Amino acid sequence: MDTILEIRHLKKYFDTKAGMLHAVDDISFRVARGQTLGVVGESGCGKSTLGRTIQHLLEPTEGEILFKGRDVTRLSKKECRDYMKEVQMIFQDPYSSLNPRMTVKQIILEPLLIDGEKRSAAEEKVRRMMETVGIDPRFENAYPNELDGGRRQRVGIARALILEPEFIICDEPVSALDVSIQAQILNLMMDLQEKLGLTYIFVTHDLSVVKHISNKIAVMYLGNLVEYAETEELFANPSHPYTQALLASVPTIDLKKAKQIQVIAGEISSPINPKPGCRFAPRCPHATERCFRVQPELHEINADHSVACHLLDKGQKGG
Ligand code: SF4
Repeated sequence: MDTILEIRHLKKYFDTKAGMLHAVDDISFRVARGQTLGVVGESGCGKSTLGRTIQHLLEPTEGEILFKGRDVTRLSKKECRDYMKEVQMIFQDPYSSLNPRMTVKQIILEPLLIDGEKRSAAEEKVRRMMETVGIDPRFENAYPNELDGGRRQRVGIARALILEPEFIICDEPVSALDVSIQAQILNLMMDLQEKLGLTYIFVTHDLSVVKHISNKIAVMYLGNLVEYAETEELFANPSHPYTQALLASVPTIDLKKAKQIQVIAGEISSPINPKPGCRFAPRCPHATERCFRVQPELHEINADHSVACHLLDKGQKGG
């Protein structure tokens, strides 16, 4: 595997009045060049904090972020600026992430001018980029509030791509859009990936969205990575009780299957000063006394699939 990004034992804690919030707690994974890793979980599971920590918008508490083999937590200021050019973000709500007082052209142009590009060359690049992401030139002087959601997200994508990054962290990029527009934006992102050789981390709460775009999926629950597998393998053989519950709660238009929709029951544990044991235990139908005492470790159940659950760690050491 040609690894472009490797995360090793990454932690991001926040000191709050109520105690230490473990937003990202000892996460490790790899992303192959040119592929997409989907990071899935409910809101508050730490997936957006993970994306922002990888992009260097947040300082990690502990751990390593190796991009092309270099630990980005140890870069100089200049190296850090270069890294942030190579690794860009696309945000959930283009409406709030785009400056309402700037036109489409100014929004896409700005990163190039800040980077020292001459205006005439930069404007030519903006024209080409608008074509690449499918924004009609007649919108170049429009303001974000004059665009529909799909076009606004195309502007967000154009701004993220204008400095020719290799790696994009997409934070819920389609969840604010209508379903028909979601499909257009996902198709655009897959086309751009192929054309420009991009690598994506795609953060979402919606497993059905990442099914089509991801090569691998990481499922997060309250700061922990609980399942990590090739996409086909995860959908064919979901093994962690939380992943099974997430899959069962994916809406379906099949009326026969609609009866099977479940809402995950039980109390969500607090990520502040978390208790020992499995964080899913209060909601897990299979929880035993050991689950409340010993935190399960992520381990391989086959070459393409790792799970952190005591149901699957027979023969492993533990309390
Ligand atoms: Fe459920 Fe125990 Fe597995 Fe946690 S470790 S998911 S509580 S069975």
